[in-house]
Amino acid sequence: MRGGVVKNYLIDLLYPRRCPVCQDAAPYGEEICPECRKRLPYIRGPVCLRCGRPVREGEALCADCAEIRHDFDAAVSGFLYDDVMREAVAALKYKGRKEYGRVLGRLLYACTEKKLRRFRAEAVVPVPVHAKKKRERGYNQAELIAREVAEGLKKPLLADALIRTKYTKAMKTLSAKARRTNLRSAFEIGPGFVPVRSALIVDDIYTTGSTADACAAVLKEAGVKEVFAVTLAVGISTSDL
Ligand SMILES: [Zn+2]
Ligand SMILES: [Zn+2]
Repeated sequence: MRGGVVKNYLIDLLYPRRCPVCQDAAPYGEEICPECRKRLPYIRGPVCLRCGRPVREGEALCADCAEIRHDFDAAVSGFLYDDVMREAVAALKYKGRKEYGRVLGRLLYACTEKKLRRFRAEAVVPVPVHAKKKRERGYNQAELIAREVAEGLKKPLLADALIRTKYTKAMKTLSAKARRTNLRSAFEIGPGFVPVRSALIVDDIYTTGSTADACAAVLKEAGVKEVFAVTLAVGISTSDL
């Protein structure tokens, strides 16, 4: 055991863990710099009861949720998708910073724990990436985040409960409606599925909720009664507030 401690110490010295906010070496024994921790865009104030997006004081639902009926029952996010989160997530997804998945997953769990416990989900299901993308990237970032959430909640992580059958291109440029249609048939039940009454989907970003909806619809068709979602960050434009 002692050898392991020494070895970890040496690994930390040689390959310091990088802070997901400033991307520099984090202080020894830390996963994020204390100053950077303060820059994390925690969601504060009232949020939409359905999707977890920030809303104005006194509003129960956001403009989207007042119009669309979601397939998931409720969703929460930990952070706003601001410049800090955008860079951290981009590094995790496109620059091979796999270790950020763990740090961000823990931060997410720490700030959403109370709400997540209220969901009483029996299992944790990451939003899958296409097998081809997973091969290219080497991992599914949502799964890394989900692992920390599952560990915190002490619930099983069903990593391959869902599979992504469609290799979808980046959908940033598509309208909300086009995303929805595009995603409808993108997911299927995978080999890791086990019948549960309720599940918690985990993803990195919540934009329109169409990914969470598509996954929830597939799980519900397979008999899951309640599907919740937690995402690291929620996309929001300042004009929404
Ligand atoms: Zn930092
Ligand atoms: Zn909403």
